Amino acid sequence: MNLRISNRFTKELPGDLIYENTRRQVHSACYSYVTPKKTSGPTLIHASELVADAIGISSEGINSPEFLNIFSGNAIASGSAPYAMCYGGHQFGHWAGQLGDGRAINLGQVEHRDKQWTLQLKGAGPTPYSRTADGLAVLRSSIREYLCSEAMHHLGVPTTRALSLMLTGDQVMRDMLYDGNQAYEKGAVVCRVSPSFLRFGSFEIFAARKDIDSLKTLADYTIRQYYSHLGEPRKETYIALFKEVTERTLDMIIHWQRIGFVHGVMNTDNLSILGLTIDYGPYGWLEGYDYGWTPNTTDRQHKRYRYGNQPNIGLWNLAQLANALYPLINEAAPLEDILKHYKDQYETKSLAMMQSKLGLTNAGGPNEDEELIGRLRGLLQQVETDMTIFFRNLGDFKKNDPEGGFTVIEAAFYQLDQLPQTISDQWSSWFESYGKRLQKEAVNDADRKRQMNLVNPKYVFRNYMAQLAIDDADKGNYGLIEEMYTILLNPYDEQPAYQRWFAKRPEWARHKVGCSMLSCSS
Ligand code: AMP
Ligand code: MG
Repeated sequence: MNLRISNRFTKELPGDLIYENTRRQVHSACYSYVTPKKTSGPTLIHASELVADAIGISSEGINSPEFLNIFSGNAIASGSAPYAMCYGGHQFGHWAGQLGDGRAINLGQVEHRDKQWTLQLKGAGPTPYSRTADGLAVLRSSIREYLCSEAMHHLGVPTTRALSLMLTGDQVMRDMLYDGNQAYEKGAVVCRVSPSFLRFGSFEIFAARKDIDSLKTLADYTIRQYYSHLGEPRKETYIALFKEVTERTLDMIIHWQRIGFVHGVMNTDNLSILGLTIDYGPYGWLEGYDYGWTPNTTDRQHKRYRYGNQPNIGLWNLAQLANALYPLINEAAPLEDILKHYKDQYETKSLAMMQSKLGLTNAGGPNEDEELIGRLRGLLQQVETDMTIFFRNLGDFKKNDPEGGFTVIEAAFYQLDQLPQTISDQWSSWFESYGKRLQKEAVNDADRKRQMNLVNPKYVFRNYMAQLAIDDADKGNYGLIEEMYTILLNPYDEQPAYQRWFAKRPEWARHKVGCSMLSCSS
């Protein structure tokens, strides 16, 4: 394995002057050096050949002892000087002070095929940012992060990636539901891969501490490394940076809305400065199309991070980032303008996204489509209707056969036999309008279906699928991990061999922990 690791991040940014791995407040520094904890018996469960290839590791490399040792944290790659990043964040709407990589240890940067990647071990042991926790991760949450981040990538959503999933051979104590029932679980480490793991909170921490020098150094680094097309760092460039982060964040959230992904913990420390989906914790996938749904039991009371609220929270988080960048700009108006624009942009992009899910171009005019889409959203929420199946099957609708519309989508209902007549009537009338609307489109049924299938996935990483893979892996069987990984490489393809995963959530999963209820314990 010929991995060339550089240390651009630590070379160019200010670091912690203290080298002991003790938990503390770290000032005027973007990172602290820290060594991953040795594990007692690492085993590779799965590795992504695609990610390995992107960073220059061959398939033989994946199976080498070196790979096992480096990506479990047992050995340090030559040239690597591992470090944990310092950042802060707003958690559930409140400033939480210093957070930082409490259990993530970065190995450094790899440059391959003109791209820069940071490699990061999640669950590799305590760091100065671990606060009261152990720096470790358990198998269940590691499987969820590993499979979901790769699935998201292949669904076309900007995201961090994952290279490998390993058991550490060590046991980790967890109180899975925060209800006093502690138990040992298998420990695991995921190697995450991303151009950068910098977050909104990386900037907020310096602004909160009025450390404007460090803030500027970090902003300049971010611009030079990742936003160099915006020009050399200066006031206008900081504004342009904020504008582009705003656009990327919104685009990412629109993708989440398109496929029914609910992040679950959109704290500002979990929002990437590159607009990537980051930190897969108590996330979930919509089954029933429900704007009020959140998978995160920690958020059960206020549902701050529910599906329908993700766009608003994106804006709220961007406002925190604007506050953090303000000292570099010293003028509020340009930042406020960008934030004001977010709402219009959201409406435009959200409408375009929904039009694409329905196979509509602008032929009908936005007003007509807004009405049609508004009625659809209302109907989908009246009774439990599976989002993925609904939109995928809608592709089979024939524009000259509105009466046949309901049959096309009836597999999406969780309780079809209990559907009130009034709702069936509303569906009939909706299909009537949809059929009429489609008459204005030049495209024929078959081509429209092909286009719709590019935005309406056939397979997503349903909550119960993750749980089945976890239950099996707990018993030492990794076949389902392989199967899900394979299906989710091509989520828009029919893949008849995997048709059984194109199915509504089974009843046993309705209230099962891990399927409908997840906490931050991981
Ligand atoms: P999260 O909400 O999972 O993104 O985590 C919030 C903060 O808690 C981050 O700073 C994490 O690094 C930290 N954290 C979460 N779990 C652990 C753990 N087991 N040990 C140390 N720090 C943790
Ligand atoms: Mg986090």
